[in-house]
Amino acid sequence: MAALAAAAQRGVLIKGGSALESLAKVQSIAFDKTGTLSQGVFELLHFYSISQTRSRREVLGYLALMEKSASHPVSDAIVIGAANEQVDIPNLAIVNHTLLPGEGVTASIESNEVFVGNKRLFQRLGLFERLPHDVIKTSEHWTKSGATVGFISIGEEGIVGTYVVADKIRDEALEVVEALRRMNIETTMLTGDQWPAAMKIGGQLGLQEKDIKSDLLPKDKRAEIIDKVNEVSLETKQRCWSKKRTVVMVGDGVNDAFALSAAGMCSKVFIFYHIHP
Ligand code: ADP
Ligand code: MG
Repeated sequence: MAALAAAAQRGVLIKGGSALESLAKVQSIAFDKTGTLSQGVFELLHFYSISQTRSRREVLGYLALMEKSASHPVSDAIVIGAANEQVDIPNLAIVNHTLLPGEGVTASIESNEVFVGNKRLFQRLGLFERLPHDVIKTSEHWTKSGATVGFISIGEEGIVGTYVVADKIRDEALEVVEALRRMNIETTMLTGDQWPAAMKIGGQLGLQEKDIKSDLLPKDKRAEIIDKVNEVSLETKQRCWSKKRTVVMVGDGVNDAFALSAAGMCSKVFIFYHIHP
């Protein structure tokens, strides 16, 4: 009781004493990347227009309009980046604005279907392969550097712009991961971002390649958690101990809510949400 009250005073809400006691048995912790191990504060580093008919400012305005109503950390970077360039968000009606978890966002503007998001999204739409070779090369260059690269398409025009955003690790993340390593707790990172961006953050935290899982859709993050719960060591099997492992998932709820909700079905998983102030 005293521990729960002390935690509450520090802004940590713990659901009952049994949850607190179970923490002593934790064998594996999975962290979300963006907004959890990383600050989740992206900066717009570059924006390139590849439209034949629209100006760079016009395409950037469309991009900011699409992201204005989205809540992903990448969205904020784009809206602020456009404002820094004094690009006004166009006063156009935006219809059927829909988040595409782990991929981006879509909406209809002036009867055009507009998409914003990562390479996975545009590969799925069959638009990525149609990009000019030099644009693919530049985007690969930025991706390899560990930045997050995205694109915007407008209706039949196809991809008309590409952007580069980057994030930093949280100041306290290294200390936390090192402490978990000393306690012999398996630590993994799950992310919907691409491999180089995942490695950039994971590498700074001393995580090994096998402990970093990238390019995951929300449903894949959930599957990873369920696998971790069911992963039992040989020694455990031989001694006929509990068949499930105690796994913690730490996430910010942006595109990892599906993994966190799956956790609810499985009594061996504990969920930690940190909520942005
Ligand atoms: P993480 O698992 O690292 O928290 P997410 O699953 O939230 O990342 O997102 C995965 C990727 O999907 C992002 O890196 C980004 O490229 C893309 N994405 C998601 N939402 C948006 C959005 N609103 N605008 C642009 N890109 C997005
Ligand atoms: Mg996230």
